[in-house]
Amino acid sequence: MARTLADWLDRSVQPLVRGHFDRDLAALRVGGGHECRRRNRASAGPISEHATGQALDIFAFKLGSGGNASEVVVEKPGGLAQNRFLDAVRQSACGAFMTTLGPGSDAAHANHLHVDIQERRSRASRFCQ
Ligand SMILES: [Zn+2]
Repeated sequence: MARTLADWLDRSVQPLVRGHFDRDLAALRVGGGHECRRRNRASAGPISEHATGQALDIFAFKLGSGGNASEVVVEKPGGLAQNRFLDAVRQSACGAFMTTLGPGSDAAHANHLHVDIQERRSRASRFCQ
């Protein structure tokens, strides 16, 4: 997971931050990383990919110094440029991870981007919403 995340940040997110904002990615604001629980924090049902350390929840992308905004918040992007940036980030995540869920997919993912590396039925099968 760490290697996939690092590759995605280097190859996709950093270039997108530079392209959209002419700044560097400084940090991510993340929520659940390696956390033993069930999917969507339900009391029953399948174990979450977070339980095995194969998932990460990203709430915001923090930008390096130089512009007005200090971060792009997944739940509330500030304006068209941030919206376009998040769309592009999400598209790239769909290629880098096996599962990508975010605002609009379901209520549990309305305020963050969930990415995980759990293989699906086939290596080429990905879940992207
Ligand atoms: Zn998650």
